[in-house]
Amino acid sequence: MMEVITKLQPSPKLLLFESLSRRMHLSNKDKLTYLNLKKGYEGELLFSKLTENITGEGLILNDLLFEYNQTAFQIDCLIINQAKIFLYEVKNFEGDFYLENEKLFKKPRQEILNPLHQLSRAESLLRQVLLSLGYNTPIDASVIFVNPAFTLYQAPLDIPVIFPNQIHRHLEFVSNQSTSITSNMRRLAAKLLDLRKTEYPFDKPHYAYEELKKGIVCPTCGRGAVNSVKRSCICESCGHKESPTNAVLRSVKEFRLLFPERRVTTGEIYDWCGGVFSKRTVHRILSKHFKAVGVNRWTYFE
Ligand SMILES: [Zn+2]
Repeated sequence: MMEVITKLQPSPKLLLFESLSRRMHLSNKDKLTYLNLKKGYEGELLFSKLTENITGEGLILNDLLFEYNQTAFQIDCLIINQAKIFLYEVKNFEGDFYLENEKLFKKPRQEILNPLHQLSRAESLLRQVLLSLGYNTPIDASVIFVNPAFTLYQAPLDIPVIFPNQIHRHLEFVSNQSTSITSNMRRLAAKLLDLRKTEYPFDKPHYAYEELKKGIVCPTCGRGAVNSVKRSCICESCGHKESPTNAVLRSVKEFRLLFPERRVTTGEIYDWCGGVFSKRTVHRILSKHFKAVGVNRWTYFE
């Protein structure tokens, strides 16, 4: 079986846009950014599920951000086996596309950032990172198009691309090549993890606390009408049930993502949850799960 070293997680950027989309009206530009992020993530998720089912032995590292020589680069997925490293740039493009003079267009004629360029950049930078760590493991890099409704016209024979109907065969090939996990492979994976950056800097859209809708957002359907009934919270739209503790902790996470400069206090979280829980309940949950700093009404939580 494949061993997943780093699981795919939604990026803070996606989470931020998702949260905002549920609590305010997004501009068309921000809406498009959000939909593209979401679609990209869904594609990566689809591919990561497929790689987990590979029967061979190897290590999988998803979603890596590195910096080499002051150049940041991101890798969607790496599979390490004894012989080589497979590097994947995952794309969830949908529709008819064509290549012309190394440029990628969506029909009729909308230029899209060519993932082949992203791929060769990532491959070259990864090779330099590996060399700096003392490895010259060969890299097998490909752009992987996961959406079955994707078509690419005028594709040359020799481009490093895996089309939707080739994924299965490719993963079988990877599986047959992967026999066992060695300590050398583990060392390499550990070194790469050490170098990995966790901060993803990005431009935030404009938003202010006052203009956001308060309340508990349902984790299943994304709507806001969650009410607290006795010991559980129930979503009015889809009926999803969750404990108040979960609901409050999720809300705190969202609050911190959107407002890293604001302090987590009982009053703030009470307001952020839209008064669904009493101050007493909020205080009890915060005290249990965070460290309280300060006293009385100046208390905040870390
Ligand atoms: Zn719901």
